[in-house]
Amino acid sequence: MIYKRSSALFDEAKRYIAGGVNSPVRAFNAVGGDPIFVNRAKGAYLYDEDGRELIDYISSWGPMILGHAFEPVTEALREAIDKGTSYGIPTELETKIAKLAVEMVPNIDKIRFVNSGTEACMSAVRLARGYTKKDKIIKFSGCYHGHSDAFLIQAGSGAVTFGSPNSPGVTAGTAKDTLLAEYNNLLQVEEIIQANPDQIAAVIIEPVAGNMGCVIPDEAFIRGLRKVCDENEILLIFDEVMTGFRLAKGGAQETLDVKADIVCFGKVIGGGLPVGAFAANSKIMSHLAPEGPVYQAGTLSGNPLAMTAGYITLKHLNEHPEIFDRLAKKTETLHKGIEDVLRNQSLPYQINRYGSMLSVHFTNEPVKDFVSSAKGNNQHFKNYFHGMLEQGVYLPPSAFESYFLNDALSYEDIDKTVEALDKLVKNGKL
Ligand SMILES: *Cc1c(COP(=O)(O)O)cnc(C)c1O
Repeated sequence: MIYKRSSALFDEAKRYIAGGVNSPVRAFNAVGGDPIFVNRAKGAYLYDEDGRELIDYISSWGPMILGHAFEPVTEALREAIDKGTSYGIPTELETKIAKLAVEMVPNIDKIRFVNSGTEACMSAVRLARGYTKKDKIIKFSGCYHGHSDAFLIQAGSGAVTFGSPNSPGVTAGTAKDTLLAEYNNLLQVEEIIQANPDQIAAVIIEPVAGNMGCVIPDEAFIRGLRKVCDENEILLIFDEVMTGFRLAKGGAQETLDVKADIVCFGKVIGGGLPVGAFAANSKIMSHLAPEGPVYQAGTLSGNPLAMTAGYITLKHLNEHPEIFDRLAKKTETLHKGIEDVLRNQSLPYQINRYGSMLSVHFTNEPVKDFVSSAKGNNQHFKNYFHGMLEQGVYLPPSAFESYFLNDALSYEDIDKTVEALDKLVKNGKL
């Protein structure tokens, strides 16, 4: 057993932590086996508790876009820590990162910082409801907006008219206000709006989805969404927790050239510390407490350490925008490498890629929504995941997760990754 120490640590963790992990996907339920435990990370590599070096393709699910333990960030944190770790009182630093974010992202005047992507999306929906004085929201199957009640909803039997809870603990009352549509299906959105006249506050979407693998919006779909929201006084919320400050300075709003009314951030904006944020124009943001009546708060929001890591990360991206192209080129190289290996096999596969997001699906059908993503063969995925892990490549442990490349990853690392896949295939293990 090559992950002996990790397995022992997992056994111990299970005695004291629910399920042994603090977030479910880490438990390897989708791929089987015990999770590896990490001791430290540097640049493009993770170092596990069994002393192995792994090439990391999840970058902490996105935040470590500059690579692990990026020195400007760790140095700034070291300096910040001696000034105290939390005050619950305003700091100049909060304004500095807010100003920078507002400058980098198109179409936003003001921002509010929270502690996670979940909080950002939850608060954005509350703000949209308060602003429009309407209750219902539309979300898309397969999009993830964090674990707040309003989003843990699946398509019900009458899929077009109402949703049902997809976790115990979410009430039917909450579920009735979340309406479900399929990604890339504008017609369905229009039908839902027609069936719920003057009741829909917001449509929330991952403008490029990363939680059913990487799924790209059709141009007509995303532009159509903008139009149909405008025509019906519905706010369009872009959940850019994944895509924000990853696809471009201005995230998917910039690359797709579609403007949202409220934008949610997380992951990269915290540079590896727990940060989320939501932003909009001044008119919408003025509805938020203390200026307006929509309540939202946080004891640790704007925490000086978190703001330091976020500020240095955003500043670096702002000063080096070539990073976005560099990441996209590396991702393209990885895509081509994987494709060159898989092309000559009998395995069905699809590779989706957008900027520095990529996913491999073991299916013949194009993956454009949750239904087509769910058709991927999970046995192939398990073999792929574990086969790569054994050779020192850490991929997302679920077919529904996107890869996130980081700037520390080298072309040599990508070559090694492709060679590992080639070996896997040649040995008949995939
Ligand atoms: C990760 C993610 C969230 C949730 O963010 P947390 O910080 O995990 O709460 C929300 N939306 C999207 C698109 C995400 O990828």
